[in-house]
Amino acid sequence: MNIVLLGPPGAGKGTQAKRLSALLGLPHVASGDLFRAILDEETDLAREVRSYMERGAYVPDALTITAVLDRLSLPDAREGFLLDGFPRTLPQAAALDGWLVERGRQVDRVLYITAPAEVLVERIAGRIVCPVCNTIYNLSTRLPKRDMVCDIEGAPLERRSDEEPEIVRFRLQTYLRQTQPLVDYYRSAGKLVEVDGSRPMDEVTARIDRSVGLVSEDAS
Ligand code: AMP
Repeated sequence: MNIVLLGPPGAGKGTQAKRLSALLGLPHVASGDLFRAILDEETDLAREVRSYMERGAYVPDALTITAVLDRLSLPDAREGFLLDGFPRTLPQAAALDGWLVERGRQVDRVLYITAPAEVLVERIAGRIVCPVCNTIYNLSTRLPKRDMVCDIEGAPLERRSDEEPEIVRFRLQTYLRQTQPLVDYYRSAGKLVEVDGSRPMDEVTARIDRSVGLVSEDAS
């Protein structure tokens, strides 16, 4: 199954994608993680990506599309994938569709996770991540077992530099302008499943599991 997770920063896409990835046995492909993996390199590509990311601006489509489609070409994504953070623009969505159609495939489901702006800002403000495995913790809702250290990797947790309040506001505006149009694009294709990401975690999880067939639709 080819699944796209769509929604603003802080809605819970990454958390759900990681969980579904383990349950469905599909790779979690997060465009932000692909970019973060090369950020520290001293190459022209890394410098260019860095110049956009540190402002909270979108990396240009051509570069982003190449990075993600290259990743989706690896053998582990042949049976499906969970895309998190891509597509974010209409040209990216069209490129993904074209690439899949050439391979006799399609986007099967788009999980659109939303939450009110104030919930998003508050969540991101408390967010700390593991620089090794990218597991996301939260100072108010999901603390690590040991003080500021990743449960899985034991690495010291960090705040992402693009999660300072000013940059977060800019990222949300960019999302509304550039990514919100994808909601109609996928809705009119009949692929969109809307999920209220401000509901308690078990409700969000149950709704998502039903929508991807992990539990039957009539299970409560
Ligand atoms: P994320 O981890 O998904 O919030 O992404 C972090 C940053 O990576 C974004 O603020 C953008 O600068 C860049 N980025 C990630 N995915 C995309 C995309 N699909 N299109 C453009 N830029 C992206």
